[in-house]
Amino acid sequence: MNTEAFYPFVLQCNKVSIDSRAVEKNDIFFAFSSERFNAAATAQEAVENGALAVIVEQKEYENIANNIFYVPSTLLFLQEIAKYHRNRLQIPVIALTGSNGKTTTKELIHAVLSQKFNTQYTFGNLNNHIGVPLTLLSIKPEHEMAVIEMGANHQKEIELLCEIAQPDIGYITNFGKAHLEGFGGFSGVIKGKSELYDFLKADNKTILVNENDPIQVEKTEGYHNKITFGSPESDYYFEHFSQEHSVGIEYKGEKILSNLTGNYNFSNLCAAASLGLYFGVSVSRIKNAVEQYMPTNMRSQIVEKNDQLLVLDTYNANPSSMAEALKNFQSFEGSKTIIIGDMLELGEESLHEHTAILEMAQDLGFDEIITVGKHFSETGISEKSYENTESLISAVKNQPILSKNILLKASRGIALERILEYI
Ligand code: ATP
Ligand code: MG
Repeated sequence: MNTEAFYPFVLQCNKVSIDSRAVEKNDIFFAFSSERFNAAATAQEAVENGALAVIVEQKEYENIANNIFYVPSTLLFLQEIAKYHRNRLQIPVIALTGSNGKTTTKELIHAVLSQKFNTQYTFGNLNNHIGVPLTLLSIKPEHEMAVIEMGANHQKEIELLCEIAQPDIGYITNFGKAHLEGFGGFSGVIKGKSELYDFLKADNKTILVNENDPIQVEKTEGYHNKITFGSPESDYYFEHFSQEHSVGIEYKGEKILSNLTGNYNFSNLCAAASLGLYFGVSVSRIKNAVEQYMPTNMRSQIVEKNDQLLVLDTYNANPSSMAEALKNFQSFEGSKTIIIGDMLELGEESLHEHTAILEMAQDLGFDEIITVGKHFSETGISEKSYENTESLISAVKNQPILSKNILLKASRGIALERILEYI
């Protein structure tokens, strides 16, 4: 099967799926081979669920049903067909990458642009070599704009995703200490993320730049096709303000307060508002969008429970976002307990980074510091350390945490949110 011959199915389908259980009538199903799933069985299931077409990478499975098609690689074909579709779309595609804040920024941009345009965007965190093609294939004729999150943990990944998504506008949220292992240190992070800039520059496409970030400024110096924010000389300038625990932006006297906590969300808000203004969304509509956006995804989420205030930030953690979260939490009024879990994937810098975070936390003077995971425990300076979330839960059942404010932050692998129901 080749791309051109298959494309009519894409135009006709309801959606494209890689999960046979989720296939509904008129969907296209891509059967990936894996240890857990047998491709023949999933192809069969997809057909039974009413799939319009099924793609397999085993020649012999073509015979299971007449709408099953063979390709040498399911993955490559998915990427190819997504790129083919993208090249037929006449809409602006906005891509974002960066170490922290991609999903939050993507959702804010979507919220803002949706005030004026029918905007498609990455669902959840589907930001990799499979998620990006799936997102592109979900763009339908009625969509007027798309926002695509691109994740990476090694070199050349963003280059590939740009090749497929062909973005018109790109934004790197920041360069931080995330996935140091795969990227080869911090300079590797800068290089890897900057592949987005490389792609945009080669085609004279637009770069959104936070001029308050020296690395973004340096990396885009001399380039002309930019939308800028972050300094009074930028195209758009926002003042920072906060109220209670929420962060807001002020634009030409108009105060816009979000439901997000953490000063690091200021740049995320500025990015979304800048794109809104650039595309002609009125300030009052931007305000609507930002005020209505509710984080529900364990990213900078405030949860009030009994008389306690919890900052639920357990979706992810790395040294940069951990440091920001600690600084933000320190400004809360009343007694404060932090429960911080391991930051994974740091490679040989792991011990150093865990020690640095713990020292920082100790300097900030919280009432109680609890750590979860072996990396924090290996620093030797954690006063209250638990091996995993399970052992923390047992301890909390016996001795509840009494602080008025509690911060919960850890890498995904720690699943620290499971403690929530025991607090
Ligand atoms: P992932 O790599 O998992 O896709 P992401 O880049 O999409 O992560 P988010 O899920 O939006 O990031 O945010 C994860 C956490 O990163 C937030 O809860 C917050 O603690 C932190 N964070 C968000 N924005 C920033 C920022 N601009 N600077 C530093 N930290 C941030
Ligand atoms: Mg994300």
